[in-house]
Amino acid sequence: MRRSLYREYRPQTFDELAGQAHIARTLKNAVETDTVAHAYVFAGPRGTGKTSTARILAKALNCTGTADAPRSRPTAHPCGVCDHCRAIAGSVSLDVIEMDAASNRSIDDIRDLRDRVAYAPVEGRFKVYIIDEVHMLTREAFNALLKTLEEPPGNVVFVLATTEPHKIPETIISRCQRFDFRRPQVHDIARLLARIVESENQRSDDERGGPPVEIQEAALLEIARHSQGGFRDAIGTLEKLISYGEGAIHPADVLEALGVTRTDLLFEVTDICIERRTAEALQYVQRLANEGVDFPQFIRDLLRHLRQVFLLQHLEGAAEDEAALRALGQTVELDDELVRRLLPQANQLQPREVVGMIETMGQAQRDIKDGLDARLQLELALVKVTRPQVDASAAGLEERLRRLESGLGATRYACETAGAKAEAPAEGVPAEAETDTVEPAAPSSEGVETPVVHPAPEAASPSDQGPQITLDRVRRAWELVLQRVQSVNVGLYASLRDAHPSALAGERLTVTMPSNFALTRVREPGNDDVLAAAFADTLGRRLTAEFVLGNATSTPPEPAARRQPPLDFTETINLTKELLDAEELDEP
Ligand SMILES: [Zn+2]
Repeated sequence: MRRSLYREYRPQTFDELAGQAHIARTLKNAVETDTVAHAYVFAGPRGTGKTSTARILAKALNCTGTADAPRSRPTAHPCGVCDHCRAIAGSVSLDVIEMDAASNRSIDDIRDLRDRVAYAPVEGRFKVYIIDEVHMLTREAFNALLKTLEEPPGNVVFVLATTEPHKIPETIISRCQRFDFRRPQVHDIARLLARIVESENQRSDDERGGPPVEIQEAALLEIARHSQGGFRDAIGTLEKLISYGEGAIHPADVLEALGVTRTDLLFEVTDICIERRTAEALQYVQRLANEGVDFPQFIRDLLRHLRQVFLLQHLEGAAEDEAALRALGQTVELDDELVRRLLPQANQLQPREVVGMIETMGQAQRDIKDGLDARLQLELALVKVTRPQVDASAAGLEERLRRLESGLGATRYACETAGAKAEAPAEGVPAEAETDTVEPAAPSSEGVETPVVHPAPEAASPSDQGPQITLDRVRRAWELVLQRVQSVNVGLYASLRDAHPSALAGERLTVTMPSNFALTRVREPGNDDVLAAAFADTLGRRLTAEFVLGNATSTPPEPAARRQPPLDFTETINLTKELLDAEELDEP
């Protein structure tokens, strides 16, 4: 039988308080300078160390030290071995009274507490009252507590712990010093878990109650991501995994133990939605069913995934800004690795598309709660998202209009490039009419150069787990890549504006340049770096670009019909005006 890891690895000193350095520092300072307050409010999510901190404070106030280093007054570094420290750690100290307001919320309980407050500490210097979930007290009980706080005896410290500080009367809060416990970051939690595993493995098998713990770092990160910022939940999950027994623990085991959807499945379904592959979406649902996936849980997890995409879109630059990432990590369980994987999806979806997907999935979730069939609701939601033309709502209509426009644009573009692709000219279009837009024909034309490979700074490592990169995907992201380039180097942007990605072999992208002038400009030193960084930001990969003039490509071109048109908003707006007989409104 294993021991409780959470109890065993509870922090015992201020310095062990992970992720709450600001609170530890202030309390240590108060103890050292003899300015400990009569009452504290410890507010924060569950499992962030509120009661552990209260106990450390109690030890600091009462520690008498060792024979070698006796303490005659409170110390910021309680010894952990004296009678007082040990009694407090073991929850048997007569001077530390822990009370759970969830079950002792009546006025009688508080009156009883008040009566006891009047007595001096039994053994130590200070009595410490820890009232957990204090917001649960009744109004009468709060009034009784307030009277105590108004005339506190000299050697009593109250710690009021709560997950919902807004439910505590202002009159109480104003008499306390308040600390807000933060959710620790994913990496703080993973580090703590790694420390626990390490010290567990230093014990003998007997002490440990089982074989050594083998767990991948990625699995620790996965536990941390799903702990909602609580140490207790994280350690609880670790304990559960260890108790399953033999063999190394992998990230997939973590997700299975937690009953949450594998991350790759969430990325996959989002890609299917981005690319509007309706048939594949339905096959995907069938696959989930075969795997025994719980559909309501899946929709919950997909909503969480979409929320992360949504947040990334609205916190522009967050991926590069460490402080912003930290702030983000505290609310959405994101870490650098996850952000790196999410960025491509965030960049390929319009923010309103993400909002639409969240709304559609949210509706499915509500319908399932109302008793409708979960699988059918998921299928319907995916069809709506991948085929907006079947969605009769206003958003669906708007989406249809957008697709209609880009469809027209695609036809036009296909005509323009048809000659260059050596395909038969479109019917009714005289071949001569194309000559001014068609690029020089390969391979005999003058001015065609063989592709020149430019040394890219560094190719993405093979272990990169980003989604599969296709030429189609690069083309769809091209406008975004150009926007990134524009923000760094306007000259390079100007040279690339009329270029287009024409082939992709592995991570080598061929970019066809419109003119010799642009080709020369784009090959100036330093440009490959800027472009590679723009690809990394947008697609999560540093693609190596080869620049060629005209239509020379190193791999066979894809059918022209699959090409995406370059985004041309002027044209779209004109088309909309024509179709809808509409006028542009001036922005206020
Ligand atoms: Zn001690």
